[in-house]
Amino acid sequence: MNSILQDRKECYITRQTGVLHKHHIFFGTGKRKISEDNGFWVWLLPRLHNMSDEGVHFNPQLDKRLKRECQAKYEETHSRAEFMALIGRNYLDD
Ligand SMILES: [Zn+2]
Repeated sequence: MNSILQDRKECYITRQTGVLHKHHIFFGTGKRKISEDNGFWVWLLPRLHNMSDEGVHFNPQLDKRLKRECQAKYEETHSRAEFMALIGRNYLDD
């Protein structure tokens, strides 16, 4: 499914184009497929993905930011219960 967070193929953080990695916002133990099927993914520059320490896979602050923004976007058109049924955790109130 298309990303629910962006329409264009550009880095979600910097809006740069060029070489980009597709990042699934929720990952591990079945979450990657859930992310794929529900559009919970974004394009990122390699250095903001996993090619440097600032990348989302090594940067808890950026990871949390993307999870929160994704949940908020999803909940514009779905309920909290629907999000919880998919991901099992609420990222917006903590
Ligand atoms: Zn990733």
